[in-house]
Amino acid sequence: MTTSNPPLLDNHGRPVNYLRLAVTDRCNLRCFYCMPEEGIKYLPKKALLTYEEMERMVRVLAAMGVNKVRITGGEPFVRNGLLYFLGRLGQIPGIDALHLTTNGVLTAPHVTELKVIGVRSVNLSLDTLDRDRFRHITRRDELPKVLDTLFGLLANGIEVKLNVVVMEGKNTGDILPMAELTRQYPVSVRFIEEMPFNGEGNRFAGFTWNYRRILEELKAHYPALYKLADEPNATAYEYGIPGHAGRLGIIAAFSRSFCGTCNRIRITAQGLLKTCLYDDGGLDLRKLLRTGATDEQLTLAFRAAFSRRAKDGFEAEARRSSHQPASESMSTIGG
Ligand code: SAM
Ligand code: SF4
Repeated sequence: MTTSNPPLLDNHGRPVNYLRLAVTDRCNLRCFYCMPEEGIKYLPKKALLTYEEMERMVRVLAAMGVNKVRITGGEPFVRNGLLYFLGRLGQIPGIDALHLTTNGVLTAPHVTELKVIGVRSVNLSLDTLDRDRFRHITRRDELPKVLDTLFGLLANGIEVKLNVVVMEGKNTGDILPMAELTRQYPVSVRFIEEMPFNGEGNRFAGFTWNYRRILEELKAHYPALYKLADEPNATAYEYGIPGHAGRLGIIAAFSRSFCGTCNRIRITAQGLLKTCLYDDGGLDLRKLLRTGATDEQLTLAFRAAFSRRAKDGFEAEARRSSHQPASESMSTIGG
């Protein structure tokens, strides 16, 4: 990086070095906390950023100090050419950590290639080990394929984090069975507070499973649970259990207790820049890219967006232009 292109900082002095890039809004599951069962209006193909456009943005961001990229969606594996794209990203100077979030339905056959490309870790979404409940939550009967992915990743030595959304009345009985996976397997099982991003335009009622309650549940069953040091910029509070191969995490995604150290940039599949998960996407990067913006103009646009970033998710939500609370589908944001 040259002095003429210093690292990207926001207006609160936070370094911004982690890009979460959604490559599609399409998905082969219908997790009820993320998407309605029917009537989803997918973006037309031409509204999606092309891989070339995404690669260019990653290069511009890498020149400003972004060194970590997570590919997400929608389900990344439903977009053709994903592995080729990942391989290209892995070669961009400055990008030293490539990560992926997937539902695991189409992933198992590609695990060895992910390893070759150098994908450092995979976040696999899995809310239950019970096949009926899986079908109920995702509205598809795909648990066996997801488990194939889990065990394929473990067999290939790729770091795995399991994302478990904790849902009142749906899978709170799965908290302990999911946590038990850490006894034998070197996985990180992360329990995520449910957020209102279900694409239904309505807030869920009765949010009671916040991070404190999840922690109480875990402590009641594992009295020897101990706190681990949290990684810098982490969203998860991490815990260990003596004798277990893996670790536990709790992500206060709705309580938003981690905003103070947020280092993330989100780019949606249609190229909207989000400086916060809860904002409504201030900058239209697709328009800039398709109207001939130079790299320098893109750089300035990123800097301008981060010079007026909300200090936390509550402020970002309050500033939404619609004045409506956040409720779009997470499949358009990427998590
Ligand atoms: N389809 C991929 C998957 O499910 O892993 C990637 C995209 S998905 C939108 C990314 C993450 O967001 C998943 O781990 C999912 O569980 C999480 N997520 C989706 N909707 C959520 C919600 N309403 N509250 C909390 N987490 C949510
Ligand atoms: Fe698809 Fe992931 Fe949303 Fe589930 S959470 S519907 S797998 S995008």
